[in-house]
Amino acid sequence: MLRSLCSLRADRALQPPTSSSLGDEKRVPSLLLSTAARDPCHDERVYRKGLVASILESFEKGGYENHSAADKQWWGGLMRTAVVLFTRDLRINDHPALAAACANAETVVPLYVIDPALVGRSPNRDRFISQSLADLRSALINLGGDLVIRRGDPVAETIRLAGEVGAEGVAVSADVSRYARRRERRLQIDCDQHRLALRLFPGLTVVDPGTLTPSGSDHYRVFSPYHRAWAAAKRRQELAAPERLSLPPGMEVGRLPEPPIGESPAAAKGGETAAHRQLDEWLDHVVEYRETHNDLAADSTSRLSPYLRFGCLSPLTVVNSARTQGESEPYLRQMCWRDFYYQVANAFPDLATRAYRPGAIEPWRDAPDALAAWAEGRTGVPIVDAGMRQLRAEGWMHNRARLVAGSYLTKQLRIDWRLGYAEFGRWLLDGDLPNNAGNWQWVAGTGNDTRPYRRFSPQRQSERYDPDGAYVARYAGA
Ligand code: FAD
Repeated sequence: MLRSLCSLRADRALQPPTSSSLGDEKRVPSLLLSTAARDPCHDERVYRKGLVASILESFEKGGYENHSAADKQWWGGLMRTAVVLFTRDLRINDHPALAAACANAETVVPLYVIDPALVGRSPNRDRFISQSLADLRSALINLGGDLVIRRGDPVAETIRLAGEVGAEGVAVSADVSRYARRRERRLQIDCDQHRLALRLFPGLTVVDPGTLTPSGSDHYRVFSPYHRAWAAAKRRQELAAPERLSLPPGMEVGRLPEPPIGESPAAAKGGETAAHRQLDEWLDHVVEYRETHNDLAADSTSRLSPYLRFGCLSPLTVVNSARTQGESEPYLRQMCWRDFYYQVANAFPDLATRAYRPGAIEPWRDAPDALAAWAEGRTGVPIVDAGMRQLRAEGWMHNRARLVAGSYLTKQLRIDWRLGYAEFGRWLLDGDLPNNAGNWQWVAGTGNDTRPYRRFSPQRQSERYDPDGAYVARYAGA
């Protein structure tokens, strides 16, 4: 695919984008700025929805090869240099922002900015990111480029680098958290000031948040109708990795920091290479998922969540590959849950801090000793303790154990789900705002569960999903 992109490039005149050539999208930020003070989240949502939707539309028309006009609309013509700011999309395959930059710029500068505001929240994830960056750098070097590493405020560093290399455009994968959206908005303001064309791209989910909406609402609150719409939704085309990249000569690329130690001795290793290995192994077992995914000791789920969390794998690639394996519906349904919580978080940015369900009762008590015992896996309830010890050992926990441990904390101990969210957030390699908060709220009955008062009995769950006690013995044995 990229070969034809390269030949497309040669046909186009080299011209920097002008404000008149950038189309309507380019004018949106001033609207955003003038109204942001009233309701920044609302305006950001409208802005993002329009922006990402128009990009998706171009993808849906059949990919880049056939759509030079659409490309021109995005970028205002072929650029000399574009910066691709990597955030949590640490891959080269099916990376719409990278693919578009390669199709539209002579020189592409891949950039990752180590943001001190995000470092240190989870040593496990810091290690995973560091490994993933090393792998991404190798992949980019193999293509003839490199990964430029900077440290500081991602917006300031992106603008600085764009100035150094004379870039005309910046490409970023759109994200949903409040932090990411502020970053996108600040980047838009600064790019406008510096006459840089910023474009947001899809790629963090299979279906972009905000593109599926039920009538009368800006998002789906209930999973089943969302799942129906998601299963029927048109998908963008999966994109090949670029065939080659080139950095401007003499660039100081910056050193990758040594991977931090992490806290979990048996944590998975980060990176796109490891992700594809895991996916390839997993594809042989997709058809067994229906029967085995709740069996705690069998450990027969995909374990792809950390790779999806940091974009080492494209969720679209996972879904498309699973589809080729026959009976994959139960697995695809779980992948849909991931997208579901992204569109919830997109519409409700307070998901990690405030009850989602209006009128939810929150009967929390202050019980620091019980919280510590839960976190350290010494409640005396075997299945809960096994789950919490798996979390500490591996930086990952089986979904069934997450449900039981979460229900125990919130419904038995009546401890605030936000404390559970924080504890999981410290250890989980896959810990992210939409899925961690969305699931915690579901478990606590403050979120999207249509039966908010259900509770999981640890004993019944053990009998059903760990009947011979193998899971408990593995993680909480004497
Ligand atoms: P598989 O069973 O193989 O599923 C495939 C993929 O589907 C997963 O990789 C994941 O991306 C997605 N998925 C599966 N179940 C869910 C679900 N319930 N919600 C959303 N996506 C799902 N998942 C996270 O990715 N990050 C989190 O921070 C997170 N926190 C959670 C907290 C609690 C309290 C609970 C109950 C669940 C949480 N989950 C979270 C969801 C789920 O437990 C994990 O996605 C799953 O266990 C990951 O293992 P896997 O990759 O083997 O999943």
